[in-house]
Amino acid sequence: GGDMSARNVDSLSQHFPACMSHLHRSLRRDAHLKHYGRLQYTLFLKGIGLNLEECLIFWRQGFRNITDDTFNKEYRYNIRHSYGDVGGDSNRRGGGYSPFSCQKILTEHPPGPGEAHGCPYRHFDMDNLNTLVQALGVSDRNVLQGVREDKESQKYHMACNRVFEHLHKQELKKAKDEGIFTSAQLETIVHPNEYFKRSFLLKN
Ligand code: SF4
Repeated sequence: GGDMSARNVDSLSQHFPACMSHLHRSLRRDAHLKHYGRLQYTLFLKGIGLNLEECLIFWRQGFRNITDDTFNKEYRYNIRHSYGDVGGDSNRRGGGYSPFSCQKILTEHPPGPGEAHGCPYRHFDMDNLNTLVQALGVSDRNVLQGVREDKESQKYHMACNRVFEHLHKQELKKAKDEGIFTSAQLETIVHPNEYFKRSFLLKN
């Protein structure tokens, strides 16, 4: 269980795909994320249902080494902007920006040194990817090998879906047996928020 609040993000992160899990881990380790990481992660959190107020609390607490003053001056505006609380007309009309799809994360703004955004299946080297996938809870050698092959053949979605299916194997079987998911819902995941939604539904 757990509602969508700042204090539950650590626990909700068990349902995150590799990209968002990496952002979350990096934030907890460094008490900071660079611009695109904040943007990618903020929009994802908005997409899972964290409201603006909770999102501001989450980032304020996450950036634990800075003062309120610095936070308010340098970060607050961008978070509100992502939610459409401030900013231009088209942004406001649309309620802020949409959470990024895999396609966008895979192809736009590849991460540079010290940046934690992007898609690990694409942007990590094999060793780091292997470590992250294991940290997500995958120890099965066949699955790890499959991820390796997917990455080598640049089938990044496939690697992500492979990990999802492995981590939710029992729940997926049960849901299928009970006819809980329609076939449309079992199509390939192509959005981090879809990954979260399915994982959350399956495990709750
Ligand atoms: Fe995230 Fe999509 Fe990459 Fe999976 S395939 S890690 S959801 S960007």
